[in-house]
Amino acid sequence: MTTPTTQQPPQQPVQQPPQQPSDDDLAAAAAAALAVAITVDAASAALAKLYSRAGVEGPALQGALQIVMSMPPEATGIAGPATAQVSYLNQVRRGQMVLSIGRRLTGDMRSARSNGKSALRALLDGVTRERRYFGMHRDAIWSRAKAAMAVDMAAMEHGLLLGWMTHRDDRVTPDCLAADGKNFRADQMPLIGFPGTVHAKCRCTPVGPFPGAPMLPSAGAPVPGARLQRRLGQLLGG
Ligand SMILES: [Zn+2]
Repeated sequence: MTTPTTQQPPQQPVQQPPQQPSDDDLAAAAAAALAVAITVDAASAALAKLYSRAGVEGPALQGALQIVMSMPPEATGIAGPATAQVSYLNQVRRGQMVLSIGRRLTGDMRSARSNGKSALRALLDGVTRERRYFGMHRDAIWSRAKAAMAVDMAAMEHGLLLGWMTHRDDRVTPDCLAADGKNFRADQMPLIGFPGTVHAKCRCTPVGPFPGAPMLPSAGAPVPGARLQRRLGQLLGG
């Protein structure tokens, strides 16, 4: 039995143009890569294809990863519901930083090229600038981690329902004053953040719950960190 030959080319699967990844996808993939990769090269290899589809050039991605990975989040040593939420949020923010830094560095290189200047020089200058910005960002990450530790310690003493206390003096801001005397849950971060993180010099602290006090609004339970890992699998493996 012979197979009839046909003039038709072998059937090809219909090639869909690759879908443009969304900013959320790109940031989530970077956050997941940062969580598992040990070296810049490994993280860069995991992200290169996805990021190049989004217009971020390879050297710019490398530069962004180098900056973010050179300043890892501080280990807090205390594990509790507040720390878990904040470390998840910090992981997401670090991923967003990789994306925004990668885009700005790509812009630096492109504008240098179009002006007949050295793209490498522009990249190095851009990395210096971004390092400075990221230093400030890292300080905010650290202060949120410290605030979360204080909440977890208060929760060990009082349970998950806690009270919010501020300093009622002439330096207090309206946001902190409005939260004073209300309650919140350690496992559901208030929309304004945990006490101590409302603004740069926030002096609010977690205390035992105020009986019958209203709750501060919160976005509800946090997204589990495992979702990031799943998303990375979909984005990079698929
Ligand atoms: Zn405050």
